[in-house]
Amino acid sequence: MKICRFNQSRLGVIDQGSVLDVTAALSVLPAESYPYPVIDALIAHLDSVRDEIEQIRHEARKLRLKDVKLLAPVANPGKLVGAPVNYLKHLEEARAQPELHHNNQIEQIQRAGLFLKATSSLIGPGEPVRIRFPDRRSDHEIELAVIIGKTADRVAAKHALDHVAGYTIGLDMTVRGPEERSLRKSVDTYSVLGPWLVTADEFGSPANVDLELKVNGQMRQQANTRDLVLTIPELIEFASRFYTLHPGDVIFGGTPEGVGPVVAGDSIQAKISNIGTMTVNVLA
Ligand code: MN
Repeated sequence: MKICRFNQSRLGVIDQGSVLDVTAALSVLPAESYPYPVIDALIAHLDSVRDEIEQIRHEARKLRLKDVKLLAPVANPGKLVGAPVNYLKHLEEARAQPELHHNNQIEQIQRAGLFLKATSSLIGPGEPVRIRFPDRRSDHEIELAVIIGKTADRVAAKHALDHVAGYTIGLDMTVRGPEERSLRKSVDTYSVLGPWLVTADEFGSPANVDLELKVNGQMRQQANTRDLVLTIPELIEFASRFYTLHPGDVIFGGTPEGVGPVVAGDSIQAKISNIGTMTVNVLA
């Protein structure tokens, strides 16, 4: 199932290129009170929401995709986890270009570990990436993004995919420069998720998935997840060794080679097999 959020926090299911408004299915979510749990309620209760969607979809209002404003499919992730240089060719590219590493030592991910992006940086494809520092370089990074569905604490790689709710396209936008990654990648609007969540059962294996990213129609990044240094299950194992992953937490799986700058006025088109395509505009 492909599940989206759109307009004013409406819930949708993608049906042959249209959006069915199934917001009523959210009624199965439990009422919470302060202090609200730091999880995403939709993702934590996705199975019961899906059951309810199946009950009501035949009477749902149908909208055209182009008429809705798509939001990030996860509204309240507790963490946005990033995987630095998780493709070998991107490691070589980063080491070869001083403007990418700014004399920061570029380590293999096994040594460098993971980083976190501020959740306040999150948008969906219906909103633009806004360049905050026009005098500095901002780069696109397309990544397969994994949405955690079940609590994962020190989970072995071989069991890791049991903890995945689904997948979506991630853009890990990045200001180049000497500061820590977590700062440069946490600028408002610099984490894009969309166009929808594809549930793990429909998506299948994350081990052989094509990714491509174009800017203004020109190919910039083209790769396959079989070239990941740490696979998706290994990333979940690695992350959950350090901190518990909760429903709604998102792991950006790392970007392949071909990163490059975007400026105001550009249009980014990101495509991942088994998910679809999203277009994101870049504004000043
Ligand atoms: Mn990245």
